[in-house]
Amino acid sequence: MKKELRAAVIAGNWKMNCGPAAAKALIEDLKPLAANAECGVIVCVPFVDLQVALEATKGTNIKVGAQNCHWAESGAFTAEISAGMLKELGVEYVILGHSERRQYFGETDVTVNQRLRAALNAGLKPIVCVGEVLEQREQGITEEIVRMQTKVALMGVSEEEMKSIIIAYEPVWAIGTGKTATADQADEVCGQIRKVLAELYGEAVAEATTIQYGGSMKPSNAKELLEKVHVDGGLIGGAALKAADFAGIIDAAK
Ligand code: PEP
Repeated sequence: MKKELRAAVIAGNWKMNCGPAAAKALIEDLKPLAANAECGVIVCVPFVDLQVALEATKGTNIKVGAQNCHWAESGAFTAEISAGMLKELGVEYVILGHSERRQYFGETDVTVNQRLRAALNAGLKPIVCVGEVLEQREQGITEEIVRMQTKVALMGVSEEEMKSIIIAYEPVWAIGTGKTATADQADEVCGQIRKVLAELYGEAVAEATTIQYGGSMKPSNAKELLEKVHVDGGLIGGAALKAADFAGIIDAAK
């Protein structure tokens, strides 16, 4: 299978930005700009914006995602949101294992796996984030780290379930810092992730899986990154908060 046959997906991670009114306005601005996208388009919004985002995107090519979910179906987990709750609302995607969750909220490879399996069981499509911190890159252990994160995240996940999963390679040192991995660095690690998928599930699954790059992607660098053979899309933070910038990245995915 060739790169052209994989689904390119541009997903916005709004993080803790925009209340419902701002979310509606941003989506309204984005709708005409994204209408002719030749890639998948997802906005992953704060929990409180989900309802508004689902309403505003109805009948459009823009899909809606959450930014996390809990691993339990229900119970005494104050302030948490289950995968089933998201599904009931009509949410399609969920980001899991984002480095900010790992860094600030104690997320581990094992809890990412638990959340992933809960998301799959509920019928959500996970966007699973992996990536090394600067010290790990400088130590030359990026491949080991990313291999481990990928393998643990996917524990107990079937070949069939892999059809619903997107993997996002996000070098932590490039997130929100303005420092982008070079296109070659991004391609190299996305290729290493694809190799892990081939070892776990075989070549066909590895070739069919969408692997995004994330880390300071913007209209000016998106084309070079997205042209790389193993880079099938982007997970976009800062640039997803301006409709014109996000649309510029969507255009670069043509
Ligand atoms: C992200 O939050 O996933 C991200 C890639 O952020 P930024 O684009 O701002 O680096």
